[in-house]
Amino acid sequence: MQHIIDRFISYVTVDTESDPNSETTPSSKKQLVLARNLVKELKAIGMEDVTMDRKGYIMATLPSNVEHEVPVIGFISHYDTTPDFTGANVKPQIIENYDGKDIVLNAEQNIVLSPSYFKDLLQYKGQTLITTDGTTLLGADDKAGITEIVTAMEYLIQHPEILHGKIRVGFTPDEEIGRGAHHFDVEKFGADWAYTMDGSQIGELEYENFNAAGAKVTFKGKSVHPGYAKGKMINSMLLASKFISKLPKKEVPEMTKGYEGFFHVTGITGSIEESTVSLIIRDHDKKLFKKRKEFLHELTAKFNKKFKKQFGDDIAIIEIKDQYYNMKEKVEPVFHIVKIAEKAMKKLDIKPIIKPIRGGTDGCQLSYKGLPCPNIFAGGHNFHGKYEYVPVESMQKAVEVIVKIAELTADKK
Ligand SMILES: [Zn+2]
Repeated sequence: MQHIIDRFISYVTVDTESDPNSETTPSSKKQLVLARNLVKELKAIGMEDVTMDRKGYIMATLPSNVEHEVPVIGFISHYDTTPDFTGANVKPQIIENYDGKDIVLNAEQNIVLSPSYFKDLLQYKGQTLITTDGTTLLGADDKAGITEIVTAMEYLIQHPEILHGKIRVGFTPDEEIGRGAHHFDVEKFGADWAYTMDGSQIGELEYENFNAAGAKVTFKGKSVHPGYAKGKMINSMLLASKFISKLPKKEVPEMTKGYEGFFHVTGITGSIEESTVSLIIRDHDKKLFKKRKEFLHELTAKFNKKFKKQFGDDIAIIEIKDQYYNMKEKVEPVFHIVKIAEKAMKKLDIKPIIKPIRGGTDGCQLSYKGLPCPNIFAGGHNFHGKYEYVPVESMQKAVEVIVKIAELTADKK
């Protein structure tokens, strides 16, 4: 277990925060510091064909050790951390044999990780937790995933009696700013399918995510002196607020869960002459997703119809852009890849928690690029902030899941 802890700490103590304002890949140069270390480490443990391209995408191979034909599988993680919270000078704390009580992360600043607020903590009583010192994030998202993949590969190399096919490993930059899959060379990776090790609590297995689109509605107005405005002025801000009031009231993020989709207003700007409403549309169901987009188009058309005479032109203009799609469509035709992961967990006495993701993953983009890619737990909790923590036992279990998936995939039966 100490080995996993040491490896994990060697990753999280290197700052790899990605930068949404940068145009380059990787978005921040500092990510390459860890990337270069990872390349060295992959070579050192005995991985073959270790490559890093100019954009920081790392790939490596563990060759098959069986005679018969086995599908090539891949395991993928990202080494950047979110720009939402600082990842510089991470000072991990190790809590052995957790007693189920409050954990003081930082006495000076009175920052406490408490099970009365974070109830999930209680399921890890008696385990070893790695936490922050209350001033940074931890980076278990997704350096736990990297730790697990490297450790699993090392284990397979040291245990040649465990039979497996060819395994590909991929580490990416910039996942946290939505670009992790953008430059991922699926052809070069050459796997039949893969798993991102990027979920949260032990047992998580995900192959459904939202269909996602972003919309921008621009309202035109007419500015006239308010004292002489009767019948002449059109205040675009009032149009914008009316538009928002016509959206289904209960279909918003704060009132939905599970498979329930929503409209989410993300921004409003306005003046009398012009206002814009930005929103995002999310739904797991493809048909409902389409309907939601149609609803916005129809609503916009209604506004135009109503004001055509007065304004003389379209008063509202809508632009909708699809962002990503539910990977379910790409995973269902090869559903055995989910079944194998499920079976691996069950064999290790881990209860699979299969639930739809209310968001997207790199795996959904990869699935649409031709690499079906469900998501598996990496073990951490409370990502993107100072309360982030990871139980070492969960990381150990994730290592075992990777090994077991490799084994089951090569199983002739
Ligand atoms: Zn992640």
